[in-house]
Amino acid sequence: MSRRVTAKEIATGVYGLPLRGSNVYFVASGSSWALVDAGWGTSATAIREAGAAVFGPGSRPSSILLTHAHPDHTGAASELALEWDVPVYVHEADLPLLVGDAMSNVRVDPIGRAFGALVRLLPGRLAVALERSGASRFHATALTFEGERGAVPGLPGWEYIAAPGHSPGHVVFWRESDRVALVGDAVLTAPLWGALTPVRRLSLPAWPASWDWQKTKASAALVAGLEPYVLATGHGAPMSGIDLAPRLHAFAARVAKSGEVADGS
Ligand SMILES: [Zn+2]
Ligand SMILES: [Zn+2]
Repeated sequence: MSRRVTAKEIATGVYGLPLRGSNVYFVASGSSWALVDAGWGTSATAIREAGAAVFGPGSRPSSILLTHAHPDHTGAASELALEWDVPVYVHEADLPLLVGDAMSNVRVDPIGRAFGALVRLLPGRLAVALERSGASRFHATALTFEGERGAVPGLPGWEYIAAPGHSPGHVVFWRESDRVALVGDAVLTAPLWGALTPVRRLSLPAWPASWDWQKTKASAALVAGLEPYVLATGHGAPMSGIDLAPRLHAFAARVAKSGEVADGS
């Protein structure tokens, strides 16, 4: 895929890159930067080009940070980490998913059944990409986030916060100073980035692709409790503004009660 995509600054020093299939983010800190999530296995070129456009040709990050170890977020992580000679960070609870054979790993749990079902439903090219991501094992250096919350190495002012449910080791990245949350698939927004309609909806990730549905809902409440001013998701366009926190609270309360998956506004 040589389609040229450019990253947009969505908060100070935070650039979002909407790729086909999932979003990745570039987070600047002083003279260094980190890549948050890594798209599908076919995303390396787009990420490399967008990073060079923001930080200069030949620039490389200090690390690659993963919100969770699903193949639409880890795809290019191994290739880029080896090329840039940087570590990949993932929460310890998602490490087995990252370093194992993605397909054989996921087959033994609910996520596996979901991805198995997805492979059968997807158009040919996506199914091939998924299977390829399963076949290629992770070869780079993986370091782990541990426990519930902590500082993000190399990104002063940022914390990781465990938000399990969609996957066992899902985390969100949080910068309290200006209330920016990079939430991966803990909470999603629709419509897709680039759509013209101003209507945006909050939603949970698809339940068949989520590891524990009750925890998924609890993590939506956790994100609401942060009261972000900017919400940047793994899928869908970013949302921001003073009405965001109340909307998130209302959304989390509704899904906690009813199992509803979209805020319907
Ligand atoms: Zn996911
Ligand atoms: Zn995803």
